[in-house]
Parts: sequence; C-alpha cells; structure tokens
Amino acid sequence: MQTETQRSSSGNTLASRVPRLEIRHLVRQFDGRPVVDDVSLSIMPGQVTCLLGPSGCGKSTTLRMIAGVEMQDSGEIWVDGKLICDTVFRVPPERRQIGLMFQDFALFPHLSVAGNVAYGLRGGKDEKRARVVELLERVDLLQFIDGYPHQLSGGEQQRVALARALAPRPRIMLMDEPFSGLDNRLRDGIRDETLGLLKEEDTAVLLVTHEPEEAMRMADEIALMRDGRIVQQGAPYNVYTRPVDRAAVSFFSDAN
Ligand code: ADP
Ligand code: MG
Repeated sequence: MQTETQRSSSGNTLASRVPRLEIRHLVRQFDGRPVVDDVSLSIMPGQVTCLLGPSGCGKSTTLRMIAGVEMQDSGEIWVDGKLICDTVFRVPPERRQIGLMFQDFALFPHLSVAGNVAYGLRGGKDEKRARVVELLERVDLLQFIDGYPHQLSGGEQQRVALARALAPRPRIMLMDEPFSGLDNRLRDGIRDETLGLLKEEDTAVLLVTHEPEEAMRMADEIALMRDGRIVQQGAPYNVYTRPVDRAAVSFFSDAN
C-alpha cells in the first residue's frame, strides 16, 4: 500500500508526501442511524482511490461531506496539510478547489460548449478563452467549441463535463459513478482518457463506484466500504485476491 502510494505521487520531496486529501474519522448520521461511520482515508497527488461498495453503504454521503455540501457530525477534512473542515470551522464548498463529476451532473443546456467549460473560471476574457481552448483540445472537442450540449453524443457531453471540471485546476476531483450513464462501447475510452488527464494535472481523485470491475481498472488503491465503514483498503490486486471476509468475497463474485 505504501509503495503504491509513493510510486504514484510525483517526486519525492517532503512536501509531496503530504496527502492532497485526508479525511479523519468522518461520521454522519441520519435519523440516529450512522450512514458514514468513522471513515478515514488519505490520497496523494496524482493518486486514484476508489471508494467501492454496494448501493446505500454511504459512498455518496462521504463524497458530499468532502465537497462541503453536507456537514459531518464529527471528523475532520484536511487538504495539503491544512484543516478545511471540522465541526466548528468550515471552508465553503466554492473555496475548496475541489472538482466534481457526477453521473447526473448535466451540462447547462442553454450555454455553449465554451460557456460550459468557462463556467467556473475566473479572470479576464482572453485568459478564460485560452484555458477553454486548451481543455477542449485535450478532450479532442475543439471543433464543438461554439456548439450546444444537445448537438453532442453522450460520450462527447461527458468529455465536455470533464473539461469543465478540470478547467479551474482543482486539487482534488470527486467522481460519483460518472461513467454509469455511458454505454459499454464508449466507457473504456472515456475512463482511460479521464484518468490520463487527471494524472497529468497531478490531481488526487476519489472515485465512487459500486462496480468492482471499474475499481480494478481505475484505482491505485481501493477502499472497500460496507454499512458506512471501510472494511478493507489496499492495492486492487490485494483487495481482490485476499478478500477480508465472506461478504467481500460475495460482493466481488456477485458482480461478475
Ligand atoms: P451510496 O452512495 O453508497 O449508495 P448514500 O451515501 O447515498 O449511499 O446513502 C447511504 C444511506 O444514507 C442510505 O441508506 C440513504 O438512504 C441514506 N441517506 C442519504 N442521504 C440521506 C438524507 N439526506 N436523509 C436521510 N437518509 C439519507
Ligand atoms: Mg451513491
């Protein structure tokens, strides 16, 4: 686990060993029931961690707390060695430099492709335009810069959403089942392309999925979640070949 982490982080200066994202003992209850129950995780720059588990186990709630749109009952969130949220102190969501990609996080239909990608950007007009062009080139969609979302295929829309999420150079990308709406034919290509771009930018990625196959394909590290808790954590191969208990075995085999 340690070697995996170090290999995927850039350089080996002291600073680069500070996790990009660290959550400590996060707890969230609904109606007296803990749906996130003492979850701790840390992710290095350029590392992809998959939060993997069955529907209802608390994955999205964990992500929403990190994004800042849901408050934890207890626990802490740290970014680059700085506390950004505990139960008394809270950096607002828009100042966390966290990018979001959700399955149903649609493009704005009334904005052009350029307008969508520029949405979260600050700065002068020329500067914004240059960043939009750079990103659309990277996702290979520059020819659609003045087009509108409805003129694009599902896969193309997803790539615009990726460009939009990357545009403000987020330090962390939170992705909640972002590929589940795509058909199989497109999914592999977009997964690989997304990972490539995120690694290039040294972004720390927390990807939520209920599909073991997706986690095996994308993760540097898998955190297996059940009933609000992380029950096992490690490199995909280790988690897959050495399941922690019977429930983990059946979770992996039911999915096949
Ligand atoms: P996952 O993303 O793993 O499917 P969620 O984090 O969405 O799981 O939900 C975990 C549990 O918390 C579920 O039982 C869900 O019904 C419950 N839950 C989520 N949000 C709320 C809420 N706002 N109020 C009450 N219960 C909620
Ligand atoms: Mg969910």
